[in-house]
Amino acid sequence: MSSKLKQEVTNWGLYPKINATEVKEDGLKYYKNFIKENEEIIPRGNGRCYGDASLSENIVSCIRLNKFIDFDRETGLMECEAGVLLSDILEVCVEAGFFLPVTPGTKYITVGGAIASDVHGKNHHVDGCFSEHVLHFDLLNEKSELIRCSREENSELFWATIGGMGLTGFIVSACFQLKKIESAYIRHEAIKAENLDEIFKLFDESESWTYTVAWIDCLQKGKNLGRSILMRGEHARVNELPVKYKQNPLKLKEKKKLTIPFFFPNFVLNSLTVKIFNFLFYNKQRVKHLKNFIDYDTFYYPLDAMLHWNRIYGKKGFIQYQFVIPKETGKEGMQEVLETIANSGEGSFLAVLKLFGKNNPEAYNSFPMEGYTLALDFKINKKLPDLVKKLDEIVEKYQGRIYRTKDSMSKPSLTNYLKNVENEKFSSLQSRRISK
Ligand SMILES: Cc1cc2nc3c(=O)[nH]c(=O)nc-3n(C[C@H](O)[C@H](O)[C@H](O)COP(=O)(O)OP(=O)(O)OC[C@H]3O[C@@H](n4cnc5c(N)ncnc54)[C@H](O)[C@@H]3O)c2cc1C
Repeated sequence: MSSKLKQEVTNWGLYPKINATEVKEDGLKYYKNFIKENEEIIPRGNGRCYGDASLSENIVSCIRLNKFIDFDRETGLMECEAGVLLSDILEVCVEAGFFLPVTPGTKYITVGGAIASDVHGKNHHVDGCFSEHVLHFDLLNEKSELIRCSREENSELFWATIGGMGLTGFIVSACFQLKKIESAYIRHEAIKAENLDEIFKLFDESESWTYTVAWIDCLQKGKNLGRSILMRGEHARVNELPVKYKQNPLKLKEKKKLTIPFFFPNFVLNSLTVKIFNFLFYNKQRVKHLKNFIDYDTFYYPLDAMLHWNRIYGKKGFIQYQFVIPKETGKEGMQEVLETIANSGEGSFLAVLKLFGKNNPEAYNSFPMEGYTLALDFKINKKLPDLVKKLDEIVEKYQGRIYRTKDSMSKPSLTNYLKNVENEKFSSLQSRRISK
């Protein structure tokens, strides 16, 4: 099966859009020829990056490279093609007693995309980025040669590709280590915080937890600035599970997914609807400190329960603004960012705060640095560039940076941190925008 079409392509934020030739094949020779014959090529996975990272006039898509190569059910070593989705891996590995070592907030990304963005999860402070668990991958380079890359073999290309945003070549397969679990459930706690001081204290107290994340109501001001809920979790052991889950601890019941069937009209999402949503979300939890057991889907992938949720932002789309600022000045920086957002009235449904641990210095192209990271969604409108400019200035002042996989309009000085990725073949709308 092959397809080579000129069509409109866009990523999860639905902005920007480009007319591109996208090649989706299931034989290596097509990719090799495409890379030989074209320039300004960018690899693409499942388009779950929000902005312009996997867009170019020529796109080489790994989505049909979706076969498993090997899975060792004793050791948890997984080898698969680059277009296999994390959701496909979970279908196979959870029942065998293994889980992804690192997972982002959606399971609908490819293994190629996980390596190229070097994705992080709620456990960065404990387990690092996805790359920490990758043993090797095979990549078609700018000369269309298939190269095995690992810490020992072609290690320069290995490290440049990790977090390299597809600019070093096309990953065709990878081998990585899964982690052992006893159940498909998470021992979960959710704690309400009245303000920024309290949430930062909760993060500090929760450093020994493997998974931590906080949802923030970013429209609160004054003494309630930073009102939030911290969620923390551990993979549950069988002996601590409630009786109802004990019988089949690794199997989850199939759940129905909701679908957003059409683009919402522009007026639906405004600061009032965000305020109402935030009020309901914060008050849905009646107690200050909730403890329960929830399945891994509910804990890691709450947004995946609603297919096409990106349509709620309307046809013009939205951006996700994610930055990190160093730990020492994290609280002041966050305060300034949240005040700026609350004053702008541009509320974000999704405002997620996480703690990053120390990064692996070898993975020099990875986004994380030790500190706090906040991710926010903003609808595209006339006022947005001005807000982004103001937020960029704060991030710059606190010596932070922006996550390239989400970016489409931030200041280039906050995103030009990639090294050893220049070549004549591979480039994206994003890389060209940043290097202008
Ligand atoms: C709801 C949601 C939640 C998210 N949560 C998180 C999170 O918690 N943590 C996090 O780190 N990220 C998060 N992300 C971002 C997402 O994990 C990354 O953007 C990921 O890279 C997307 O993978 P993809 O397969 O969709 O690739 P794409 O979006 O198509 O591409 C992403 C990048 O990878 C490159 N790429 C893709 N495939 C290949 C390949 N085969 N070879 C070489 N390069 C390739 C592309 O060129 C591009 O630069 C989230 C995204 C969404 C939509």
